[in-house]
Amino acid sequence: MIQPDVDLQPYNTMTIAARAKYFCTASSLDEVREALLFAREHKLPILPLGGGSNIVLTDDFPGLALHLGMRGLEFETLAAGAGSDKSTDSGVRIRAAAGENWHQLVMRSVELGYGGLENLALIPGNIGAAPIQNIGAYGVELKDSFEQLTALEIESGELVTFTAEQCQFGYRDSIFKGPAKDRFLICEVVLRLSSIWQPHVSYPALQQHFSEHGQSPDALTPAIVADAVIDIRNSKLPNPVEIPNTGSFFKNPVVDEQLYTSLKAAHPELVAFEAVDGWKLAAGWLIDQAGWRGFRKNGVGVHDRQALVLVNPGHRCGSEVVNLAREIASDVQHKFGVTLEPEPRFYP
Ligand SMILES: Cc1cc2nc3c(=O)[nH]c(=O)nc-3n(C[C@H](O)[C@H](O)[C@H](O)COP(=O)(O)OP(=O)(O)OC[C@H]3O[C@@H](n4cnc5c(N)ncnc54)[C@H](O)[C@@H]3O)c2cc1C
Repeated sequence: MIQPDVDLQPYNTMTIAARAKYFCTASSLDEVREALLFAREHKLPILPLGGGSNIVLTDDFPGLALHLGMRGLEFETLAAGAGSDKSTDSGVRIRAAAGENWHQLVMRSVELGYGGLENLALIPGNIGAAPIQNIGAYGVELKDSFEQLTALEIESGELVTFTAEQCQFGYRDSIFKGPAKDRFLICEVVLRLSSIWQPHVSYPALQQHFSEHGQSPDALTPAIVADAVIDIRNSKLPNPVEIPNTGSFFKNPVVDEQLYTSLKAAHPELVAFEAVDGWKLAAGWLIDQAGWRGFRKNGVGVHDRQALVLVNPGHRCGSEVVNLAREIASDVQHKFGVTLEPEPRFYP
């Protein structure tokens, strides 16, 4: 089950050809436990792997790359009155094992007529990684439908349940990037969708899509919104199968009122949204304005339709990607005084 010296190129959407000292795919909880035992015996660090769409391998990994491949997807229809927090509402509870594909889960829920996940269609990767950064798109985040998850604590081998509150979800953030970082393997996620659907379609790109397609806001369904999201994403974002990438390479930075005001005065067309703790700036706009869109060097570059996406068409090593990211961040810092923080996790 555990293989030595494995090329991780097929396991990351940036297609970086780094090697893992050991690799295995675990298809059950028992296999995860066996793999953990092996890692403990050999004192190996662990790299949990889902679809590999949010990682950058900067070098070979000197430990065990553990691909979480557990499958299982259940939709449980709830009678009115079931559940505690949404007690008068029927709906559906979705129980998904870590290795289930996120987009397929979204489309299955849409086919069954349930709304809530449609704005998150076409996000690559597996369900097990979705809570790590509280995936989000078009005004909706995983946390909006999240009920709980079960994770295996690496140190003790115990199964632990986390409620939404315990996950401490934030913008592209959760406890699994903070105090619980590298301590848990997420094995199962439980979502809850209401039977009362409230579409979230205020994003300009969605509004424009509906008006161009003559779709009345009153006649929307989860399936129509999912199709719109898929169309928009396909038109803007490179398909990792064709052009290797990890989606947005930087988080949208949040700046204070003073910096926002001075930037807005200097750049009236600045793209920014008011946030709880200041102003969230569109990182893609800053990178675009700094002149990086379409840039290419040493087989890596910046996507020509979305400056927030770094691409690796030359299948180059992680250090080329990291060097380019550093150059961009330092240029944006110099030109706008704004610090960019990478969204994907770098390993080792
Ligand atoms: C084209 C493209 C578009 C994207 N668009 C979006 C978007 O709109 N919104 C968004 O939020 N993200 C987006 N992403 C990023 C990415 O799809 C998500 O972060 C996704 O959840 C990653 O899933 P994965 O299975 O590929 O995770 P991986 O890349 O395999 O892992 C990501 C991190 O989670 C850890 N991890 C993975 N599985 C587990 C587990 N079961 N238990 C513990 N730790 C685990 C890994 O060690 C790593 O640190 C995009 C990526 C691409 C390539």
